Amino acid sequence: MTDVIVVGAGVGGLAAALRLQALGHRVTVLEQSDRIGGKLGVEERDGFVFDTGPSLVTMPQILRDLFAAGGAALDEVLPLARLDIAARYRFPDGTQLDLPGELSAIPDALDTALGPGRGAQWIAFLQRAQSIWDLTHHTFLESPIGASTMLRAARPADVATIAPWQTLRGLGRQYLHDPRLRMLLDRYATYTGSDPRRAPAALAAVPWAEQAWGSWYVPGGLGRIATAIRDRFERLGGTVETGCAVTEITVGDRGHVNGVILADGTHRRAALVVANTDAEQMYGTLLRTRSASKMLRRIRRAAPSLSGFVLMLAVDHPPADQPHHHVLFAEDYDAEFDSVFGRNGPPRLVERPTVYLSAPDDPSTVPGPGTGAWFVLVNAARHDPGAGMDWDAGGVAPEYAEHILTLMAERGLDIRSGIRHYDVLTPADLERRTLTPGGSIYGTSSNGPRAAFLRPRNASPVPGLFLVGGSAHPGGGLPLVMMSARIVAELIGPA
Ligand SMILES: Cc1cc2nc3c(=O)[nH]c(=O)nc-3n(C[C@H](O)[C@H](O)[C@H](O)COP(=O)(O)OP(=O)(O)OC[C@H]3O[C@@H](n4cnc5c(N)ncnc54)[C@H](O)[C@@H]3O)c2cc1C
Repeated sequence: MTDVIVVGAGVGGLAAALRLQALGHRVTVLEQSDRIGGKLGVEERDGFVFDTGPSLVTMPQILRDLFAAGGAALDEVLPLARLDIAARYRFPDGTQLDLPGELSAIPDALDTALGPGRGAQWIAFLQRAQSIWDLTHHTFLESPIGASTMLRAARPADVATIAPWQTLRGLGRQYLHDPRLRMLLDRYATYTGSDPRRAPAALAAVPWAEQAWGSWYVPGGLGRIATAIRDRFERLGGTVETGCAVTEITVGDRGHVNGVILADGTHRRAALVVANTDAEQMYGTLLRTRSASKMLRRIRRAAPSLSGFVLMLAVDHPPADQPHHHVLFAEDYDAEFDSVFGRNGPPRLVERPTVYLSAPDDPSTVPGPGTGAWFVLVNAARHDPGAGMDWDAGGVAPEYAEHILTLMAERGLDIRSGIRHYDVLTPADLERRTLTPGGSIYGTSSNGPRAAFLRPRNASPVPGLFLVGGSAHPGGGLPLVMMSARIVAELIGPA
């Protein structure tokens, strides 16, 4: 039996802990916050329960696989509900599209909402996206990334399909002639915190995966994902300690990791350490070796992913036909990406951002009938006062929150008179809560053809020290984070 310490109880840390405990290791998770879940946050106020991070579950088979590895059936420990309507999209010209949650129903819905032929355009695109998925998921997502990864993907026919020289936006232009379909596609770049004008065409796999396997919800709120993984882990004998900040990862004389130091100075010994902290924190602060400085420089060569500005609205008498997921697109999507990523000026507030809201029809998250716990999210520049974006500056967050509510009203969703109360979470709050630099949601972005190769690997240069989670390979978002946990468990192997 090997002692393993996992630093951080985000979904990545908990998933790795569950897998390793099931493989016979003795695992302890140390979490700095007094709650588990990390970015998968939950807030409760006056009987309203809000997910403050993820609101959409895709690729449920990955959760199923995780619980199966822990000896449990997903349907028993965490029943999921499939959404009939994946999302309602409102385009700048006022067109509205209810995108079905069932792939076979999508072409007709596109033809009806956007005009004849739109369904065929999207399906032609999805066929290419499926080929990209088929070629990339094993090599790029489910395996450790390394020098040989590029070679494994280097067969000419495969390279032509993946088109590493092409951006997601470029691929969209090839297949989609309706600007609204291109806008729909652009949005999927934000699932990895990226800019569609710079993210690789390979991200076409994102809409494919979402539409092939559907959009799902966890009744009771997505926060239950973290508690269900934790409960299973503890049932197998693992331990989670909250309020336990790690300040250093220690390395022994022979260069092998040998434990961690806590904020109170205690040295906890372990044969293996798995860091679920943001990779920038791990290589920049926790690990004090020469190799760490090298890795840090590499991370900083990549563009960080975007952050998010969140409103949690307690709503009375929500509209009766409100879909679960609702997207009110920006009039100028490029201006949104320019502001968030600091093009044509420093990173800044997006004047008229795309507004995404999640309005679950779930009685267990509200105090009573006729009320709604709504989560509103807009893409936001990271908290980086040095670069000009200071989310803590007086007035910025409250004024921006009011601005977003007005914007929603201008786009046809005026719920201002029904808001009982609301709270705000800024990128600076996300940074403080999860110790994620700038509040970047997904570690480094996928901007640029080499981004996937700059993302930190799961095996660190220090023997016995591994990285799991959204800032490491294969990237952010719940499915990928859980894939990283599987890669780490496979790299470590049974006790
Ligand atoms: C607003 C928002 C919306 C999102 N929407 C979706 C969505 O709809 N679908 C989806 O799939 N994904 C979504 N995501 C992304 C998803 O939440 C993340 O990719 C995922 O939860 C990250 O998990 P993680 O384990 O990598 O890291 P984290 O959740 O960041 O967990 C890291 C943990 O480590 C702890 N920690 C850090 N430093 C230390 C230390 N020194 N000592 C001890 N503990 C430490 C932190 O407190 C934290 O609990 C969203 C995220 C946000 C913020």
